[in-house]
Amino acid sequence: MNATIASPLSETAHYYFTQVDVNALNWAEQAWMNWYLWWDNPVLATGIMSFIMHEVVYFGRCLPWIIIDALPYFRRWKLQPTKVPTAKDQWECTKLVLFSHFTVELPQIWLFHPIAEALDMQTYQVPFPAWTKMAYQILIFFVFEDAFHYVAHQALHYGPLYRNIHKIHHKYSAPFGLAAEYAHPAEVLILGTGTIGGPLLFCYFTRDLHILTVYSWIVLRLFQAIDSHSGYDFPWSLNKFVPFWSGADHHDFHHMAFTNNYSTSFRYLDSWFGTDKKYHAYKERLRAAAAKDREALNKKLMEQTEKEGQQAEREAEQSGFMGRPIAAKQD
Ligand SMILES: [Zn+2]
Ligand SMILES: [Zn+2]
Repeated sequence: MNATIASPLSETAHYYFTQVDVNALNWAEQAWMNWYLWWDNPVLATGIMSFIMHEVVYFGRCLPWIIIDALPYFRRWKLQPTKVPTAKDQWECTKLVLFSHFTVELPQIWLFHPIAEALDMQTYQVPFPAWTKMAYQILIFFVFEDAFHYVAHQALHYGPLYRNIHKIHHKYSAPFGLAAEYAHPAEVLILGTGTIGGPLLFCYFTRDLHILTVYSWIVLRLFQAIDSHSGYDFPWSLNKFVPFWSGADHHDFHHMAFTNNYSTSFRYLDSWFGTDKKYHAYKERLRAAAAKDREALNKKLMEQTEKEGQQAEREAEQSGFMGRPIAAKQD
């Protein structure tokens, strides 16, 4: 099968693909090649594809959660069932998210292609890498991002950083899908480094990375972030099958309790460093209760946890790392 190549094309555009056996490419690889040929400018082609992908995936993934929030049937799996976001909440959140996508993320996405090229990342090249190679590289990015986020997120709970940056993300003590990227632009930049830094470092050292792998990773990372803010823990949620996967159950608690559970994708760092003790104590009390009392106890525990969370937030605003008070100023 021959690829349909759009024209007019520059000499350079053709030059990119002179070594490619078009007949050996699958339809996706041909579409990829045609996209780059059509734009005839790799920076534009990558930038526009990246931005569209991010918007489509972000809002596309949020949509089912908006519908679920509107249907009372799903309330039985809502982690904080009394706190369902209103249409106004969702709209306010969408506005800020869109604003930051266009002002903060767009320039970063645009800069990505030149940086990627400087590190020899493959962009327009076809054929694509084998799925096995993509899978192990994505796994490395997951582990890297989780560790980066674990440290950076705790730093964001440090008084001055919390007051000026992370407080915006904690506006919702019961988060919902759209709130995943509801954050100060500086936070988007800081925590985004964990997402993009992994691929860039990996590429720097190995010189063996295709941007399609980076896209696949970002799609999965967006799913992870949105789902963990969804506020729902279903019997079929991933954390029920993969015990070290965080999921909404883990991150919802962070928003409610303000402390504990700083990781993104996995649970092991919070477990190793003991930053999930409060979360486990909460779960243990629920488990120990008789089934008939569980709902009432959960309601009581939630109110108590949120109250303590508000107190912890006040303390964090005026304090140092991990809630330790800043020493009084000496004159
Ligand atoms: Zn936080
Ligand atoms: Zn969050």
